[in-house]
Amino acid sequence: MYFLIYTSSAIRLMGDGDLMELLDLCRKRNAKDGISGMLLYKEGSFMQALEGEKEKVKRTFERIQRDPRHKDIFLLRERDVESRCFDGWSMGFKSVVASDLERRPSFAYMSDKLFSSPTFNAKPHIAMKLLQSFHENTR
Ligand code: FAD
Repeated sequence: MYFLIYTSSAIRLMGDGDLMELLDLCRKRNAKDGISGMLLYKEGSFMQALEGEKEKVKRTFERIQRDPRHKDIFLLRERDVESRCFDGWSMGFKSVVASDLERRPSFAYMSDKLFSSPTFNAKPHIAMKLLQSFHENTR
């Protein structure tokens, strides 16, 4: 089992319709490939965890990197893992606003930060905790 987290910046702010179209595509494709994970969006920035069979995760990430809808893709962490952390979803999703972070004491100080900011990119363990926190609430 393989796992990775990356952040990126959308080339423009995405509306609910754009995000739902993207999510629908991700979920269909990931369900076929046995990939699970969590996607967060905040003010034009993305954070995503992908997990599954190594080759499938790597191939999916290659496609994601070629996607013209976003840029500045930054890989925070990749590794072999024993088991899934984000099972139950082919791709969990949350469109995050500042107040979602303010309500979580461990993340309140990051409420004004984009996911693509150095604050997150320098702290993969914080990114992982954040993804897990939203995953628990979307189940
Ligand atoms: P095709 O569907 O053949 O498309 C050809 C090209 O057009 C690709 O470069 C594609 O990226 C691009 N494209 C497709 N739709 C649009 C559009 N509406 N606007 C602009 N360009 C477009 N895919 C997954 O399978 N799993 C994921 O978990 C996943 N997560 C993603 C997260 C983010 C933040 C983004 C931006 C994309 C994500 N994708 C994911 C989509 C992925 O980047 C590919 O678009 C998708 O996997 C289809 O790839 P394809 O090579 O079959 O492209």
